[in-house]
Amino acid sequence: MAASRTLLRVCSSSFVQASPVGRLLAPAAATSAAASFCPGPWAAHSAAAAQTHVVAAPGMFATRGIATSTPARYADPLTPPQNTRITMAEPKNFSEVLDGSSQTLFLTELTRGMSLTLKYFFDKKHTINYPFEKGPLSPRFRGEHALRRYPTGEERCIACKLCEAVCPAQAITIETEEREDGSRKTTRYDIDMTKCIYCGFCQEACPVDAIVEGPNFEYAAFSHEELLYDKEKLLANGDRWETEIAKNLESEVQYR
Ligand code: SF4
Ligand code: SF4
Repeated sequence: MAASRTLLRVCSSSFVQASPVGRLLAPAAATSAAASFCPGPWAAHSAAAAQTHVVAAPGMFATRGIATSTPARYADPLTPPQNTRITMAEPKNFSEVLDGSSQTLFLTELTRGMSLTLKYFFDKKHTINYPFEKGPLSPRFRGEHALRRYPTGEERCIACKLCEAVCPAQAITIETEEREDGSRKTTRYDIDMTKCIYCGFCQEACPVDAIVEGPNFEYAAFSHEELLYDKEKLLANGDRWETEIAKNLESEVQYR
């Protein structure tokens, strides 16, 4: 494969344009040399390449491999200026010629590229196989909302409505009633998850850690209605994620 690539390189116009030896030869000589090596279309291509050879002159933009008559300042670095022609910079002395020729002959750039590929092949992978693998989440991650209970099963919420008042998106709707013992509880606790901006103010305002934003981020739905959460749904979320939520709150308690 390396031999065929080398032959291809010799036979292509890059013999004239990319190879320092080719460039040292006069365009006509390089063309005739390429033509004598290469059959049909490659020889014709080499002749055309030799005729369109560009030499970077003072005042012209010239970097490795590019010469153009337009100024070096691009508006967009990914878009070369118009009338750009691709060529190689001229070798300045014999050591540059030797260096360029040895790189072409021994495929050192290809070898360097392959070694880099090999290095990253055995490196630690930075991608994960989601959804079977999941990355770490911060304890402060603000995901799906949940209403928590005490270990006895009693609802934590005392229906103070602070979360409803503080919510900047007005996503929370609460209705309350008084219990027989004089305390208050919610009869309705709705969150419109399509209005919520996940600011976390409701969790911050709650004096009893009843409403929290849990670690669940996988609750995409197909319809708007599925994202209108009621009290049963929020309490079910709390029951499901209580272990993780309690652990996250515990790790953050000294910063609150
Ligand atoms: S996270 Fe912010 S926007 Fe969402 S319900 Fe709580 S207070 Fe409202
Ligand atoms: S969730 Fe918290 S802030 Fe909201 S009404 Fe209940 S106790 Fe008050």
